[in-house]
Amino acid sequence: MYQAQIPQPPPAKLLGNPEPQKSHLLRNLLLAASALSIVLLLGWNTINHNHLHWPIDFGVQTAILLFILAFLIHSVIKFFQHLREIKPKQEGLNPLYPFYTAVTLAAFLGVGYLEFRHQFVQITTTPIIRKISGVDTALARCDRAMANLFAPTRKGYVQYEYADGQYTSSDIAHFHPAACADIFNWYVWQGKTNTTDYQIHTLDMISHEAVHIGGVRSELIAKCASTEWTEDVLLFLGAKPDEAKRVAEINRKNANDYQGRGPGSQTSAYEGNCDSLPSFRKD
Ligand SMILES: [Zn+2]
Repeated sequence: MYQAQIPQPPPAKLLGNPEPQKSHLLRNLLLAASALSIVLLLGWNTINHNHLHWPIDFGVQTAILLFILAFLIHSVIKFFQHLREIKPKQEGLNPLYPFYTAVTLAAFLGVGYLEFRHQFVQITTTPIIRKISGVDTALARCDRAMANLFAPTRKGYVQYEYADGQYTSSDIAHFHPAACADIFNWYVWQGKTNTTDYQIHTLDMISHEAVHIGGVRSELIAKCASTEWTEDVLLFLGAKPDEAKRVAEINRKNANDYQGRGPGSQTSAYEGNCDSLPSFRKD
């Protein structure tokens, strides 16, 4: 009996094991990751930024994480398929399968940690920025490490726009990626205690930039005003009352020392120390 010969595609070779038919699993997963990345990146730059004011954002690192996730899912599915194949044949395990899973899992955990740290600091500090500034749409934004590599910025800053003879601050407090890492380390790994002098400066940045968003443009006045919230910022973040008080006292002293730098470009705004200024807190 005559049978038509249907040309068979050559068997796909993955990790040395011939597959019965060509699998499009990895291609589909990568396509899904690409589509999701494009939607998230475009969505972030159009909808979220202008209307939703989410503390979370989507960057290139988020997209990279999605691609690594696609490879991780692929490796796990392939690993289980391999286990199912070798079981009835009582063959030994091909070490390439667990190796592939281990490598993609390590990459996922590594990049996932960086992305989690980035989002965690934004989510944790945004409510503080909103409370201090009195601006409901205010956001804490950790600058992306990649962007910072090409255009290094200061530790913390708020952008101003000049129009109609006056400056208006944006409602975004930008933090340097290293500053966000510092806050995260203090919060998570250090247990919010033994705050170093450098970390006091970093934590002060949260209230300092919030004060700018709230309308204080003068750097000197912002330095003083910021210290009025230091204790509350630390308490909000979960530091023990003793530590919050200690840090607040040092921070106030630092601000006074800064004021006492003598005749400078901006010191003519007022003389003396922070205590000579009226309180900036309205609550
Ligand atoms: Zn400032």
